[in-house]
Amino acid sequence: MAKKYEGPAIGIDLGTTYSCVAVWDSQINRAEIIHNEQGNRITPSCVAFTDAQRLIGDAAKNQASSNPSNTVFDVKRLIGRNYSDPIIQNDLNMWPFKVIAGRDDKPMIVVKYKGEQKQLFPEEISSMVLTKMREIAEAYLESSVKNAVITVPAYFNDSQRKSTKDAGAIAGLNVIRIINEPTAAAFAYGLQKRGNCVKERNIFVFDLGGGTFDVSILKIKGEVFEVKATAGDTHLGGEDFDNRMVEYFVEEIKRKNKVDISGNAKSLRRLRTSCERAKRTLSFAVDTTIEVDGLFENFDFCSLITRARFEELNMDLFMKCVETVNTCLKDSNMDKSNIDDVVLVGGSSRIPKVQQLLQDIFKAKELCKSINADEAVAYGAAVQAALLCKGVSPNLVILDVTPLSLGILINGDLMSVVIPKNTTIPVKKTEDFEKSEDNQSSIPIKVCEGERTRASDNNLLGLFYLDCNPSNPRGHSLNVCFDIDADGILIVSAEEECTGNKKEITIANNTRRLSPEQIMRMIREAEKYKAEDEEYQKKVNAVNALDDYVYKINKALKNIDRSAKLCPEEKMKINLECSKAKDILDSIKEKETAVFVNCLNKLKSVVKPILQID
Ligand code: ADP
Ligand code: MG
Repeated sequence: MAKKYEGPAIGIDLGTTYSCVAVWDSQINRAEIIHNEQGNRITPSCVAFTDAQRLIGDAAKNQASSNPSNTVFDVKRLIGRNYSDPIIQNDLNMWPFKVIAGRDDKPMIVVKYKGEQKQLFPEEISSMVLTKMREIAEAYLESSVKNAVITVPAYFNDSQRKSTKDAGAIAGLNVIRIINEPTAAAFAYGLQKRGNCVKERNIFVFDLGGGTFDVSILKIKGEVFEVKATAGDTHLGGEDFDNRMVEYFVEEIKRKNKVDISGNAKSLRRLRTSCERAKRTLSFAVDTTIEVDGLFENFDFCSLITRARFEELNMDLFMKCVETVNTCLKDSNMDKSNIDDVVLVGGSSRIPKVQQLLQDIFKAKELCKSINADEAVAYGAAVQAALLCKGVSPNLVILDVTPLSLGILINGDLMSVVIPKNTTIPVKKTEDFEKSEDNQSSIPIKVCEGERTRASDNNLLGLFYLDCNPSNPRGHSLNVCFDIDADGILIVSAEEECTGNKKEITIANNTRRLSPEQIMRMIREAEKYKAEDEEYQKKVNAVNALDDYVYKINKALKNIDRSAKLCPEEKMKINLECSKAKDILDSIKEKETAVFVNCLNKLKSVVKPILQID
């Protein structure tokens, strides 16, 4: 791809409900999602007009309930469409702001700003959101930003794309490319580069946002991303789930408190805000409480909702998602077994039930969710922006990352991570390790990948031996270097500096490496066994501390033997405790962490007063 533009160039996901901006950072070789002045990584696509000022983003959304007719959102639904378009006609009644037909059947948004009535094109409102996103990026980059890649839904027609580009121009941006949201999401996951994707790859992108639901099937071959099929629902998303919860509580309040808030816009708005928060909580908790002080006159509202109830309230909507997925598969003439990756995008794709239903459709296929669902599109846009810019590392490999942590095992069964999971390649890293025994002339170095603490629970990639000088004692340092090139080939080398002895092993990308399914399983298992692994780590630390102390005692005793003599009782006391410690160290497996900790404490209390070693 030719690089023509002067950096920096940003990627913007201009969403219906939220927008997000990201920029490629060539130093760390990945995209950074940029937070706004409130510290939020996504910004409401919302603009408000008051007597005194214009507000964009969080500030606009926060005052929506007190200024509903001048708080504009959802303009993405309007952009590039005619006023008489049935989609717009259908939405008109639901918006608290006014939309009228302008010249050539163009929709115009009517607001009161600084005491005057104003008519605005949807492009103008979008440009205000884009300006906000540009300013967020400029504050972060501490420089002005001109170039941007903006994303649009795959089904957007030419007119909608052109209007989006116009909005960018009004915002003072040079829109260097408009790309499809699902393509951007696929970019974010680096799917065109993943392992077995040398040939063709079919990606299913499931994007459930705030007000819209889009699914797409992409076929990727080399650098070409082709949208094979799209389906969706222009009115299905997080806001519908919020509505269901609001309706539920309105009924509950009616029943329990004999109060009807259904006609009170302000109360409903406040209840909705609480419900949306509760909905997010229910994505990771099984129940949560809703609290709205002074919801209605002097009535403080507090109630509990479980995840199961939330699911029940929305089940028909979730099932609609399932239908749409099946329609898209049918339209593409593709069997689901031909889908290589299922990518989750959009804030609402975090809902566990939605994920479960999707998983049921794709059965054994793991869902890609390693990137934040509401950031993936902006991330991909930033990748595309970097590819079109000068000054970015020429060998930029689109987001090919190490799917699992890579490390070595040289001491016991503990995995020492050298390159953590999700590190962008190419990458080179050197670490110092210590010899674990005295008199070692050959050290086995096992190269492993995986997330577990115990190396034997991980995947063994290779083993080699480093010759070293046996007279170098335990604790003597060795350099181990991991070098992964752009093609994913890993070279692990080890060196004993003082002798210059060096050995290395090459592990090709395809030998012994795992399939995406196996990788996901390992990541899942690591999460599942986290507590167990932490316990193991504690035990290893305790064992090593005890072993180290015994080693130090032996060393000190040898010196003492040659010089000052200890009195026989002292020596006996030390020997007795030492041999107890050695016995314990001989049966590590059967013993609990506390045994090693207690043994070390006892040993120290006996030895320290005599030998003064810590
Ligand atoms: P869009 O692309 O339509 O602008 P987003 O992808 O940003 O929208 O998704 C916004 C929606 O995602 C909102 O309705 C929000 O409530 C919902 N959402 C965000 N996080 C979660 C979560 N953890 N669980 C459930 N819904 C969530
Ligand atoms: Mg979106």
